[in-house]
Amino acid sequence: MPNDFVPVARPHLGQEEVSAAGRAILSGWVTQGPEVAAFEREFAEFVGAPHACAVSSGTTALHLALLAVGVRPGDEVITVSHSYIATANSIRYCGAKPVFVDIDPATFNIDPRKIEPALSKRTRAILCVHQMGMPCDLKAILEVARKHQLPVVEDAACAIGSEISWQDRWERIGRPHGDVACFSFHPRKLLTTGDGGMLTTADAEIDHKLRLWRQHGMSVPDTVRHSSREVVFESYPELGFNYRLTDIQAAVGREQLKRLPEAIAQRRQMAARYRQLLADIPGLVLPAEPEWARTNWQSYCVRLPEATNQRQVMQHMLDEGIATRRGIMCAHLEPAYSAPATWRCAQIECKPDGSCPNLAESERAQSRGVILPLFSQITEEQQDRVARALRQACSIRIQG
Ligand SMILES: *Cc1c(COP(=O)(O)O)cnc(C)c1O
Repeated sequence: MPNDFVPVARPHLGQEEVSAAGRAILSGWVTQGPEVAAFEREFAEFVGAPHACAVSSGTTALHLALLAVGVRPGDEVITVSHSYIATANSIRYCGAKPVFVDIDPATFNIDPRKIEPALSKRTRAILCVHQMGMPCDLKAILEVARKHQLPVVEDAACAIGSEISWQDRWERIGRPHGDVACFSFHPRKLLTTGDGGMLTTADAEIDHKLRLWRQHGMSVPDTVRHSSREVVFESYPELGFNYRLTDIQAAVGREQLKRLPEAIAQRRQMAARYRQLLADIPGLVLPAEPEWARTNWQSYCVRLPEATNQRQVMQHMLDEGIATRRGIMCAHLEPAYSAPATWRCAQIECKPDGSCPNLAESERAQSRGVILPLFSQITEEQQDRVARALRQACSIRIQG
């Protein structure tokens, strides 16, 4: 890649993370141990949650969260198709079926008005997503959930540091406002440990289950056995998994957490700058923040003017040395979801056959959305180049 190539995202990792990983390696304890415990405490404090439990990825966090709120084979879980495919996959890991609800095109998030018509006797939970970091309308979602006594799991994979106005205060996503919130530390997110994840909850019983299941269902964690003065025999009362985060990763995560407040402030500034630079491109729709939300702007996704072609716009930008990504993809359009039994949509009578009329906004968001470069070290000059190239790409198509 040429020197002046602008990537779509880039993790911010430095000497601090290198030293932290080295410290963990040289300590002699490299998997889940004291660094994980410290990372959990610091993360819980950051989001304001009573409990935080570290796991190996955002996906394994979702799997455990759904199990913890009682999702079992044959159940249904309300969610969106328009998300990273891991959201829907995690429901299938439980032997349950995702029920896809369409999004609100303004925020790319679940349209809460469409949840109630999608409920059935089999509905066991709601899995809502804070897409690309933008908080979803938790107030409206929780209202429906309480009315029907359904637990709410938040897919907060992208939303670390995002805030929502709650009873006249700004609160971080993950307190949690639902029953459990799930975060990801994949390199595309604001905080990365290579791979990794975290679950937060206010429910001590749920937290206990998560800790059991992430480590093979082992009754006595190896950290406890290791520090015990007496011989301790463990047992395995339940089927568990190996979903551990390592201490090397957690040490890196603790350094990443320190960078977060500044990283979010920077991104909010850059997003405001994009808004200025792109405001007058005809037909281009910029992402909008509801007044009750403050996003971390993990991704800045614009909607292209109707007369443009997504692939051509993205190719034009790539030719100018600028990477972009298309809008978030829809799970129901992927071959892994081609069997009708794998999901259903809000309208019970709709027989899914490829494209689904009940998910029209989701499909449009995939085919019209383009994610622009945004990362900690992006320069104003690079942002100007992105704006210039996008303006050009849009105008060529409108005239052509
Ligand atoms: C990244 C992401 C996931 C998966 O997280 P991993 O850590 O990659 O497993 C799940 N849901 C959403 C919305 C994501 O963006």
